[in-house]
Amino acid sequence: MRILVIEDEEALSDFIVLELRHEGYEAVPAYEGREGLEQALGEEWDLVLLDLMLPGLNGIEVCRRLKAAKDTPVIMITARDSVMDRVAGLDSGADDYMPKPFAIEELLARIRVIRRRQEKSQSPAPMSLTFKDLELNIESRMLRKDDQWIELTKKEYELLFIFMKNINRVLPRDLLLERIWGHDVGIETNVVDVYVRHVRNKLDTRGGDIEAYIQTVRGIGYVMRHEKD
Ligand code: CA
Repeated sequence: MRILVIEDEEALSDFIVLELRHEGYEAVPAYEGREGLEQALGEEWDLVLLDLMLPGLNGIEVCRRLKAAKDTPVIMITARDSVMDRVAGLDSGADDYMPKPFAIEELLARIRVIRRRQEKSQSPAPMSLTFKDLELNIESRMLRKDDQWIELTKKEYELLFIFMKNINRVLPRDLLLERIWGHDVGIETNVVDVYVRHVRNKLDTRGGDIEAYIQTVRGIGYVMRHEKD
């Protein structure tokens, strides 16, 4: 993770840069607003730590101009912890706000939050799971087969979801029971068989091969498997 630290107070800048490097981040200092902005725009950064009061160009202005061109995350740092500064900072597009003085641990924690957010947005969760001609939509919780939408009950959806998340993996009855029904008392393992039957019926409306999608693994459980050829 590359972090640009735009901070004119040298002692504080040195301290932050040192701590960041100690954490394994690549940290580069800039000591002036205009230079900092140029550096922020000219290179790829995963994060910019930006002081509010800077010579040359203030932090609000640096942030506004940076955000107009790129969506690099910015944490604004400032000595003044007034509501006005906070609002101005966030209005300029800063992603987070760090009032001075701060414990370095808190800054590191906020950097981790930004990093997690980035990782999430880089690998968005898929909207649907697919297997053969089936498509399970995670948003609508509906199943599509041959361009036909099939409605599922809550448990049927959960069952299919687990199968389609674990293609080629044999799922024991006990595990399915635990994952879908939890520790409900009075539930017996054959409830899994009952629901697998429900789902199979919905998948195979024309009375074809009952194991076309969900195969029985005798004595263990079930599996959704791609045929090997
Ligand atoms: Ca300053």
